[in-house]
Amino acid sequence: MNVAVVGGGAAGMTAASRVRALKPEWKVSVFEGSNFVSHAPCGIPHVVAGITDVSSLMYYPPEFFIKKRGIDLHLNARVVEAGYGYLVVEENGRERRYDWDRLVLATGASPLIPRIDGVGLENIFTVDLPPDAERIIKAKGESIVIVGSGYVGLEMAEALSSRKVTVIEMLSHPLPNFDADVADVVRKEVEKKVNLRLNERVEAFEGEDRVEKVVTDKGEYEADFVILAVGVKPNIELAKQLRVRLGETGAIEVDKHMTTNIDEIFAAGDCAETINIVTGKKAWIPLAPVANKMGYVAGVNVCGGRIEFPGAIGAQITKFHDMEIGKVGLSEAEARKEGFNVESVMIKTRSRAHYYGEGELWLKMVVDENKRLLGVQAVGDAAFPRLYAAAIAIQHGLTTKDIFFSDLPYAPPFSPVWDALVVAARKLRF
Ligand code: FAD
Repeated sequence: MNVAVVGGGAAGMTAASRVRALKPEWKVSVFEGSNFVSHAPCGIPHVVAGITDVSSLMYYPPEFFIKKRGIDLHLNARVVEAGYGYLVVEENGRERRYDWDRLVLATGASPLIPRIDGVGLENIFTVDLPPDAERIIKAKGESIVIVGSGYVGLEMAEALSSRKVTVIEMLSHPLPNFDADVADVVRKEVEKKVNLRLNERVEAFEGEDRVEKVVTDKGEYEADFVILAVGVKPNIELAKQLRVRLGETGAIEVDKHMTTNIDEIFAAGDCAETINIVTGKKAWIPLAPVANKMGYVAGVNVCGGRIEFPGAIGAQITKFHDMEIGKVGLSEAEARKEGFNVESVMIKTRSRAHYYGEGELWLKMVVDENKRLLGVQAVGDAAFPRLYAAAIAIQHGLTTKDIFFSDLPYAPPFSPVWDALVVAARKLRF
């Protein structure tokens, strides 16, 4: 049996490794367009910040997959055409054809490039794959403009904040998928470190060959380089060629087994859609833990298994300097849009015992009319453990009563005896 995997990121390498573990007698080939494999784009901002070097973004080096896992790994190998049973791959300057019996599409997502005059100028970067970190590090300069204030924009702003950074956001608050009241806490912190311009729209990039200036509807900003961080879109070109069905979100439609409408073709990771467990509806959730687990499920089922990927809740976490920022499940605005009858509370509390440091934590809890948790957003010191607990509660449909009586561990260095989650649940009643 010949299994081909397109894409050597989180989903692709997890799927390939699973197949080799379960069916060592099968041939598994991975085709990866870049020279990085099993990479973590999540680490790019941290490479730019100087915390680590770009090669460490590969969790395992290519030799590990080739020698230890027996995977037929092709780097710098871009799949340019896909048909039933075959792939055409551009590698080493020529095109070669490879046959497959089962195929996994794990082509990930790519940054959106806004249609703005001058967007093709040099020194305008996106943040996608590890080589982008190298390009951004090489682009010296003191004045930097970042377009977009989602988590990628903010992580890049932190990474570069020893220089003169302007972040331009067309919406009224940073972190577009957070509620405005929570995002406002983040805004105050961001404004201490960078020039955050809200309600402002980029209209043009100007310069000779390379960008020199960013023009918005409200002003102009000098720029030695620009980073575009305005969102991502699923890579679906090969799926279209194969007549693999796309879902309502625009990503590849898969069932819980990660099978597409064609039995021998599976899809996993950022190129595929899933189910939002809170709404029960199809959703596109391009995040790393989701991609890894989808890849695992695809790998098992390629081998004839029947395990299911249950969906995800869009759990996400980031930080801006010392402030931890995260969201699990739905924001209040998202929940209302979905038609839930919503109640919410936002509390500001200490993150640890009152005699144990100055830590502050803001936590917003959103519930439905049955007091079932729909979402939690948390910002500040030690937001992370609260988000972890909330994620499991939301995924399993727990209520404010369940949260109030949850026996969460306590000691002064870690939390007050009445934890933020418990206080929020009490305020919403049960
Ligand atoms: P990818 O990792 O994108 O891998 C897809 C691979 O397919 C790529 O290597 C690409 O080169 C290859 N490919 C595509 N088309 C072809 C082709 N035709 N031929 C050959 N190869 C092809 N998620 C989190 O959960 N937490 C974070 O903190 C976080 N931070 C992030 C920070 C940044 C800057 C970015 C960009 C993303 C971040 N993410 C984060 C998202 C996370 O990186 C993705 O969800 C995850 O990488 C998806 O894995 P994947 O395998 O589906 O896709």
